[in-house]
Amino acid sequence: MPKKCAVAIVGSGFSGSILARVLAVQGHDVVLFERGRHPRFAIGESTTPLANLALERLARRYGLTDCYHLAAHGRWLERYPDVMRGLKRGFTYYRHHPGEPFVNRGLDSERLLVAASPSDDIADSHWLRADVDHHFVREAIAAGVDYRDNVEITDVAITKRGVKLNGHQFDFVIDASGPGGFLARHLSIPSGLARTLTRSALVFSHFEGVRLMPEVVPGLPRGPYPDDWAAVHHIVDGGWMYALRFDNGVTSAGFALSPAGLAAVTRSKAPDAAALWRLLLDRYPTIGAAFGDAAPTRPIAFRARIQHRLTRATGERWVLMPHAYAFVDPLFSTGIAWSFRAIERLALCFEDGLPDAEALARYAALLSAEADQIDRLVAGAYDAMAHFDLFAAHAMIYFATVSYAEVRQRLVKADPWSGFLGVGDPVLEPLPRASRRRLRLKGFAEWVASAIAPRNIAGLADPAAHNLYPIDLDVLVDRHALLGLSREEIVAALPALRGGGGSVTDRSRVVLPQVAQVR
Ligand SMILES: Cc1cc2nc3c(=O)[nH]c(=O)nc-3n(C[C@H](O)[C@H](O)[C@H](O)COP(=O)(O)OP(=O)(O)OC[C@H]3O[C@@H](n4cnc5c(N)ncnc54)[C@H](O)[C@@H]3O)c2cc1C
Repeated sequence: MPKKCAVAIVGSGFSGSILARVLAVQGHDVVLFERGRHPRFAIGESTTPLANLALERLARRYGLTDCYHLAAHGRWLERYPDVMRGLKRGFTYYRHHPGEPFVNRGLDSERLLVAASPSDDIADSHWLRADVDHHFVREAIAAGVDYRDNVEITDVAITKRGVKLNGHQFDFVIDASGPGGFLARHLSIPSGLARTLTRSALVFSHFEGVRLMPEVVPGLPRGPYPDDWAAVHHIVDGGWMYALRFDNGVTSAGFALSPAGLAAVTRSKAPDAAALWRLLLDRYPTIGAAFGDAAPTRPIAFRARIQHRLTRATGERWVLMPHAYAFVDPLFSTGIAWSFRAIERLALCFEDGLPDAEALARYAALLSAEADQIDRLVAGAYDAMAHFDLFAAHAMIYFATVSYAEVRQRLVKADPWSGFLGVGDPVLEPLPRASRRRLRLKGFAEWVASAIAPRNIAGLADPAAHNLYPIDLDVLVDRHALLGLSREEIVAALPALRGGGGSVTDRSRVVLPQVAQVR
């Protein structure tokens, strides 16, 4: 048993409640505070292979059976049909131009589809956060977490000897309150937003009755999966729109707009959200056709700026979860996977008792480098949006990075302390920065192809693919050497990549740095 600690976690989004539960499984006394009450609306819904792989690892290491089932769309449907989700087979992009319908030029359309999974069964899911977060809170309670909702913590004292919250004594506090910034306010942590390049506003809601893209653009060539069962990105001037379909007919959608993108549509800094939404639908006719008859299920909302960043992520007896520390933009769906990486790291820190100063410093340094890396990647994508071919080429850096990480984690080594999004990788880490510098230079796409080549196990950046990328296991087998594996080793591992033969207790599919007993 680890040295038993009293831990307070503030904020019961999925990151707070899953970490609370893991710490309870480890034997700690955990109180989870929530300002609001579940079920409650939240955005940040689209998972990725790296997120689900981490969820599976947490499931195996700490015996969280439901997490294993929720990590794949097929298992989720079978075991938790009442927890609402949507099928996500990949990442779909279209470029739209003001006043023009999306043009179907067959294989030369401004369209990019990158598959994230080979089948519906082992696909990722969009999380209806009201349902999913509620589920994780219930499971945390069942695991022994002391959950207290409708609580506003007003009285905070953190000293060398302990943490006092509203008169209750703890050994440590974890801030999982998201951009609400619970500790940022109470500890007056200065903002670090000045180092974030990306700036975007958001107008968003949930909608019923959104039409499928093939209905509004008939005759598009068949892609590696049905276009809409994905994280759909509509690139517009100075921004983009996400559209995430749930299996109950509801679609989560929002436009993220740079200051220039917003100014092109409205002169007002705080526009009426519904009016802005309508202006955008009118400006982009194909998006207008898909969303024109759709009804919001809740009022359309506007946020003038979605970025936030702090200058510190840890201190003596406290730590911030990633979403409390920084957020850049939903482009590339990094938030959930990044949060899981942090849950895994902090869970390891607590396996022997309280995290020591060295572990916290390591955690903080990684979070800072990773927030910068997400920002550079996203800022480069915004820079490239005006020209779809440049955008598609830049996006290959993201896809090469995450596909390499996924396969490496599945087949070679899954170390939660390895950097997220290429941080620490001598080949991948410099690429987002270099890409921004080279974007306007001739031969950009060719440069991307050669820059990602040492990590390109997925056949990306291939002009012959016409921007349609399925999961191609033959390419992976051919490129086995990039992973340091022999052809025979990778062929033997293929069933794991196809999703066959796993179970929550089967550790053979995932190599962990040091497998602890499930307590
Ligand atoms: C527009 C947008 C779109 C996004 N899309 C994606 C996506 O598609 N994919 C992806 O991976 N990530 C996405 N993200 C990121 C994702 O939302 C976050 O990674 C995720 O929500 C982090 O979860 P969390 O549990 O840490 O925090 P949150 O979900 O923010 O939960 C925080 C909780 O803390 C509670 N709380 C706040 N203050 C207090 C307080 N003082 N006391 C007690 N409780 C408090 C809140 O009520 C809430 O329940 C998106 C983010 C935004 C802004």
